[in-house]
Amino acid sequence: EQHMMESEKLSVTGQLAAGIAHEIRNPLTSLKGFLQLLKMDNDHRDDFFKIMESELTKIETISNELMVLAKPKQTDFKFHRLQSLLEHVIMLLDSEAFRHSIKIEQELTEESLYVYCDDTKCKQVFLNILKNAIEAIEQDGKINVKVFKEDEHTAVIEVKDNGCGIPKHLLKKLGSPFFTTKKTGNGLGLMVCYKIIEQQNGSISIESEPNEGSTFTIRLPLYMA
Ligand code: ADP
Ligand code: MG
Repeated sequence: EQHMMESEKLSVTGQLAAGIAHEIRNPLTSLKGFLQLLKMDNDHRDDFFKIMESELTKIETISNELMVLAKPKQTDFKFHRLQSLLEHVIMLLDSEAFRHSIKIEQELTEESLYVYCDDTKCKQVFLNILKNAIEAIEQDGKINVKVFKEDEHTAVIEVKDNGCGIPKHLLKKLGSPFFTTKKTGNGLGLMVCYKIIEQQNGSISIESEPNEGSTFTIRLPLYMA
């Protein structure tokens, strides 16, 4: 039993390492190629630089996402008002949603709910999940964000979209490193979300219906003010 768990763990690490190597090799190959081109062709410098910058950003994004796999620094944990964290993230996505004719509805309970967390990481979770919702809708749709107190100890954040939904057989793959169905996705967003929420002793569950939409439900321990 113990032995099996150990070897399973190894294979996940191996899988992750292979994924990282693969995801970083592509932009590196491209960077190398454009460096060669730059040596020969000086007329298109600005175009080349633009592409090179975006390839570097890809590597930067992957490395930032993977940082959460490191041990959480408890020193960064503080009390934060859950509604304020969400309002901030929704504000950041406002223009993105507007550009895609997506309405983000908010139903945040009035009573202030406090969670004990690293606010940057918590906001990254909400950002990743809301971004996925926007990408699932693509154009014209609605996202509903609810925050409420489930019981004395639990806060619930519910993000519901009317996007493409997720086929049942893919549900269990969500959150595995590098699993993506998108052309430009890196498949790290949900893995990062699961890791962060686990570090804060919470949980994430997903309900989805293909062609109807998905609901991501996050539960976090609640602290009374
Ligand atoms: P990425 O967004 O880079 O693809 P994620 O880890 O954020 O990586 O998501 C993994 C996959 O989960 C997505 O490619 C998509 O197939 C699926 N997914 C996540 N959120 C949603 C959603 N709200 N609606 C439909 N599919 C989703
Ligand atoms: Mg994503």
